[in-house]
Amino acid sequence: MLYGRQASHGRVAETGLMVAASSIAPPAWLTDSHGRVIQDLRVSITDRCNYKCVYCRTGELGAQYPELGIEEYLRLIRLFVDLGIEKVRLTGGEPLLRSGLLELVQELAGLRTVSGGPLDLALTTNGHLLEKLAVPLKAAGLQRVTVSMDAVDAPTFERITRVPGSFAKVLSGIRAARSAGLTPLKINCVLLRGFNDDQVESFAHFAREEDVVVRFIEFMPLEEGRLWTPEIVVSMAEIVDRIGRVLPLEPLPARDASETARRFTFSDGRGEIGIIAPVTQAFCGACSRVRLTSDGKIRTCLFSQVEHDLYGHMRAGESEAALRDYIARTVQGKEARHHIGEPGFLKPSRSMVHIGG
Ligand code: SAM
Repeated sequence: MLYGRQASHGRVAETGLMVAASSIAPPAWLTDSHGRVIQDLRVSITDRCNYKCVYCRTGELGAQYPELGIEEYLRLIRLFVDLGIEKVRLTGGEPLLRSGLLELVQELAGLRTVSGGPLDLALTTNGHLLEKLAVPLKAAGLQRVTVSMDAVDAPTFERITRVPGSFAKVLSGIRAARSAGLTPLKINCVLLRGFNDDQVESFAHFAREEDVVVRFIEFMPLEEGRLWTPEIVVSMAEIVDRIGRVLPLEPLPARDASETARRFTFSDGRGEIGIIAPVTQAFCGACSRVRLTSDGKIRTCLFSQVEHDLYGHMRAGESEAALRDYIARTVQGKEARHHIGEPGFLKPSRSMVHIGG
């Protein structure tokens, strides 16, 4: 199978189909059977989290899956990079809880993609520990962070996270990340009707005042408990309408076909918001992602019903070539789309915190 431009850190890798060194390498990257090119890898490095957000966790369960060693994540990520992955986002659980994070970032920053450039390297965090870690992360080579923040007032925020004092910690983390140059800084907000949907307009002001890109994400059925209903989802249309009434919005053009957020600026051109609408405006057709869980399983969709034990193959002593072939075959089977809201929809066996959001 020819599954990628077969350069492995500058050398021609051993694969099922060798390409003569003198021939022009075809631009065939990691692809799936629906013709999508996969260039974006999300890696969970722990499923532990120091928050118990009411829409994500029951508040009772802690970590459920093992963590790999930092060297093991690195080895697995290298395989994906050999296959054309250009963007790596570290996530969790809460990735800032993970020991060895700075070393991992430093190693990843030193990798080169098959095109020869550095990886697009980012991290998603709840921001609680970011104030102290922003400068070291930047120094280690991290380019950007996305901070999750579901309210811009302390009482609402702390009702959601169930951690006293969390709002002040996250705000300091956001400001530290901005001054460390981990920019453009994105703030992800999941809106739930009746919990925090009164925050929409305040978030638009927050985006402008704090010079951050606020992205609203529709709530998906990926929680540990059973909270999701179509009615609790605050749709893209409603968010745009409500913000537009207080601060007129102008749509921004998409930067590339796989961009998940619909972006808007304000009519004076200052500030940006984005809306990610996996429920009401699914973008599966342009999906360029796969995920690696903290215990080394590949998930080809957030809503996959099956997982693929890449780490198990590695532990069994398979060669790098065999592991790359396994990844390529797994990615070929990526699901066409999710089925949220359809009759017979099945929640995946893992919730968001244990998959890696
Ligand atoms: N702890 C990190 C953080 O807070 O960003 C990374 C993991 S967290 C699971 C990643 C993101 O998933 C957060 O922005 C969180 O709000 C979001 N999330 C969690 N459950 C979700 C759901 N059911 N639907 C949509 N987003 C969800």
